[in-house]
Parts: sequence; C-alpha cells; structure tokens
Amino acid sequence: MPEFLNSVKGFGVTFRQMFKKVDTVQYPEEKNPTAPRYHGRHQLNRWPDGLEKCIGCELCAWACPADAIYVEGADNTADERYSPGERYGRVYQINYLRCILCGLCVEACPTRALTMTNDYELADDSRESLIWTKEQLVVPLLPGMEQPPHPMRLGETEEDYYALGAKLADSRPDDGGRNPVQEGPVQDWPVQGGSS
Ligand code: SF4
Ligand code: SF4
Repeated sequence: MPEFLNSVKGFGVTFRQMFKKVDTVQYPEEKNPTAPRYHGRHQLNRWPDGLEKCIGCELCAWACPADAIYVEGADNTADERYSPGERYGRVYQINYLRCILCGLCVEACPTRALTMTNDYELADDSRESLIWTKEQLVVPLLPGMEQPPHPMRLGETEEDYYALGAKLADSRPDDGGRNPVQEGPVQDWPVQGGSS
C-alpha cells in the first residue's frame, strides 16, 4: 500500500468503530449483572438455626496468598454457643486493600462458612473502612434464625445437627444452600426448640 494511504487506513478504523454497538454503561445508575460465579466480596454463612458456620480454624487465613485474612478463634461454652462444635470465630477480618479475590480461602474452608458474593462495589475513601469485620461479613438472620449465642437447635447430637442442617440448607430455593446470599427468596426454617 502506498505510504500516503496509511493515514486514510487509520481513519478507516475510527470510522468503522463509530457504527459499532456501544458497550458503555452509565455506572453507577446502570449496573450490568455479573457472571453467576463472579468472585465478589466474601460472606460468612450461618446454619439454618442462626449459629455461625465458622469454627475459627484459620485455614482460610493460611491459604490466603495475600495475607488478607485475620482470624482469632475462641471456645464455645455451654452457656455461650456461637457455632456447633467446640470453637467459633471470635474475630474475623478481611483486608480488601490486600485481597485479590482469588477464592483460595473459600476452597480451604472446611465448613463452607466462607463463600463469595457477586458484590463488586468495594471502593472506599479510607483504609480503615476497607478492613471488613466479622459483623460486616456475617449474613443477616433469615426468618426462623435466632441471633447467637444460643444452644444447637437442629438436633440433640452433632450428627443430627449436621444431617438436618445440611438437609435444610439443600432445600433452600435460591442456590441449594451452597451460597446462601442475602437477597432473594427466603423461607421459614423448621427449627427445633425456641428462643433461649
Ligand atoms: S480471595 Fe484470595 S486474596 Fe482474598 S482473602 Fe481469599 S485467599 Fe486471600
Ligand atoms: S471461614 Fe472457614 S476456614 Fe476460615 S476460620 Fe472460619 S471455618 Fe476456618
């Protein structure tokens, strides 16, 4: 091609682009839905009676390549129970200044306490506010759940508790209980026992 046509060729690219469909979204007024398995911010899940799934084992923190998770576990007692089993996560923090949303922490969690939502709106204007605490990460109580501490309501033994808890979680209408998101349809859980 003669040299003088190079600039015409360049304008041709611009001209073609002008007639293509525009992908610009007027964010934040308009938001495109993410892919269903998009890795957004984390959440700490509960059993259907409201007890926390986190057992404070710190495996998520050890798995994290960015050293973004801080966990302090503590013992449940007969009078003060936050999770089924011996231990619960007393302190839980995720530092979103470090987190690269890789999901390795979710893979490491033995109880499915930690999952990820599709929420990507994590920007803020202070460092402190990007360190999310347990209170921010734990899912709100759904109908039928009870604020811990309280005794295990899903069965007399741990075996019963986990069997019934898994069954109830699987019967959830939104996503089979694998990732109980905060929004969406909810149902009343047939929880055994009442408020403590
Ligand atoms: S998503 Fe990745 S970087 Fe973020 S806390 Fe989990 S393991 Fe760490
Ligand atoms: S979120 Fe899971 S891996 Fe992390 S401390 Fe809790 S139970 Fe352990």
